[in-house]
Formats: sequence, C-alpha cells, structure tokens
Amino acid sequence: MRAITVVPGNQASAELSETPEPSVGPGDMLVEPLLLGVCGTDREIVDGVHGQAPEGSERLVLGHELLARVRTAPAGSEVGEGDLVAGIVRRPDPEPCVCCARGEWDMCRNGRYTERGIKGRDGFGAELVALESDFAVRVDPELGELGVLTEPASILAKAWEQIERIGGRACAEHRRVLVTGAGPIGLLAALLGVQRGLEVHVLDRVEEGLKPELVRDLGAAYHTGLVAELSDDTEPDVIVECTGVAQLVIDAMQHNAPGAVVCLTGVAPQRSLSIDVGALNNEVVLENDVVFGSVNANRRHFEQAAEALRNADRGWLERLITRRAPLERWQEALEKGEGDIKTVVEFPAGASADRDG
Ligand code: BGC
Repeated sequence: MRAITVVPGNQASAELSETPEPSVGPGDMLVEPLLLGVCGTDREIVDGVHGQAPEGSERLVLGHELLARVRTAPAGSEVGEGDLVAGIVRRPDPEPCVCCARGEWDMCRNGRYTERGIKGRDGFGAELVALESDFAVRVDPELGELGVLTEPASILAKAWEQIERIGGRACAEHRRVLVTGAGPIGLLAALLGVQRGLEVHVLDRVEEGLKPELVRDLGAAYHTGLVAELSDDTEPDVIVECTGVAQLVIDAMQHNAPGAVVCLTGVAPQRSLSIDVGALNNEVVLENDVVFGSVNANRRHFEQAAEALRNADRGWLERLITRRAPLERWQEALEKGEGDIKTVVEFPAGASADRDG
C-alpha cells in the first residue's frame, strides 16, 4: 500500500512510499482513510524542523487529521464496519504521568507522550491504518466528509474548555472575544465562540475574500490592522491567539479588558522582538489577566468537537475546505495557495465515496 512518509529532520525526504499493510492488534480497528487534513505541523515536519520517527524506524508516516471508514472493528466496539471515524492524535506516556493516567494526555507532565504522525508513532497518511479503538471517535454520518475537521476543532474545544474554567475565577462572565488569525484554527475558534453566544471579533491581515465572508456569515465582526487599533468598545475579555506571531501575542497580552483570559494556541518561526517586559508585567498584574498556552486534545475534546461540528451550518463548514489533492499529488495539499483555508489529501477510498454519494 502507499503511505506518505518522511525522514524527520531531513528536508528533502518526504515521498509517497510503498509500505507493508499495517498489522492489526487485538484492540485495533482497520480503517480506510478518506480524507487527511494538513496543517502547519505537517509542513514543519516535511521541512525537517519537527517530528520524530517511531523507535527503530527511519521514516515516519505523516498525517494526524484523519477521516476514515471502518473496515473491521474488534467485537464490542462502539463503531462497526462502514462507520466514519476521526482519529485521536496523542497517546499517553508509558509511565504514565498523573494526567495521562486519567486520560488527560493532552496535559502530559513528563513529555514522554507520543503523537501519531508527529512524535514517535506513525500517522494516518496511508491507504490502510490500524487505529486503536479507544482512540477512534465516531463521526456523525450526516457530517460526512466534514468529519475531517474533527481534529482541528478538538484543539479549540480544549482551548475553550480551559478558557471557561479559568473564567470561572471572576464574578463577571465573558461577553466579547477576539480571535487573532482567520486560518482554520481561528475560524473554528470563532465558530465555537459564536456557539457559546459570545460577541466574536476576528482579526487577520487579509482584507477581502473568503476569510472576511466566512467571519461575517458566522455573525461575527472582521477586522484588519492592529489589535491596538480596535476601538475601546471592542476591548475583548477573551482573546484566542491563533497565529503564534510574536507581535500579535504581545498585543493580545496588552490590549484587552480587565480580568481578560488570553489563550495562546499558535506556534510560529519567531523573529526577535524587543519589548518592555516590566510594562507588560504591570499590565497583566494590574488587570488580573491570565495568559496561558493550550495544545492538543483528549477524547472528551474530540467528542465536544464532533458535537460542535454537528451543530454548525454544513454550508459554512464546507467552505473551510478550499482545496483537495489526490494521494498521488499529496504535496499540493501542503502548498499554501492564496485564499486557502483548509487543504486536504483525498485518498482513493474517499474519491470513490465522493463519486458514489
Ligand atoms: C496537533 C496537536 C499536537 C501539536 C504538537 C498540532 O498540529 O493538532 O495534536 O499536539 O501539533 O505536536
């Protein structure tokens, strides 16, 4: 079978390889990938700056945003042949730490967790995948192909869960949210904010096209320019920073309402930036702000994500997927075309499902 593989750390190594079919363990399902979403993490791995192959192997199978159809499932599984599933990315560390032991591997304390397609475990970018049934999440058949958005949505489901827990410390409820960055993560952050009944603002540098349209169609406000330029009556009490761009991170920490919660979700190659740390400290302290980072997601968040997608407008979600590349030309999905939001690799099983239905 064919699989997208890469030698981590080696920039020119990504290819479509011929690999043996996976061996299916007692608790595993055998699934046929239909669509595989790609994101910045995949680009970093292909660029040789991130990623780790499984122990004893030189190559890593890429891919962690999976929508697949179940071919076989162990008896007693929650899903069966023909059902659609998304795959959870992280696996608990072997020790396990106190968080992994409770199924909260997204909060792993010792860093010895593994991640499919990213860190020490083969990913989902292959024609057949063995998926541990405890790490498969059922996708509503009504959602169909849009189930490929479950993994990125799980990142925001976790972020919002944390924001709400932190928000519980204050007497006032959150009303207004600013999301920085209108990529897939930013748009899903905005969707989840709107679903919570909040006033949502999204800031991005793109001035026209699909991004502003998608934001407005959510009933949210779209802005370009600097966070500092937002007027006083749009001062947010939650900021979900989705770019990792240093200037935006600092701006998010500085320009917000008293008692704000600033959630950082982005990672980006950094340029150095000079800032007055003392002034920033005073700003955060004197306003009772919280700034925190959020990564990955556990099963609960995947289930919350599946629910959020079920409740979203299908037409809106469809517009997030701006381009598909067939498996033979998978590299095209990694290219960032102007106007692209989420690009996906389409597997042969996905293309035939498309034709049939
Ligand atoms: C994935 C997360 C993962 C993170 C760091 C992201 O792209 O969505 O599941 O934890 O990369 O490896």
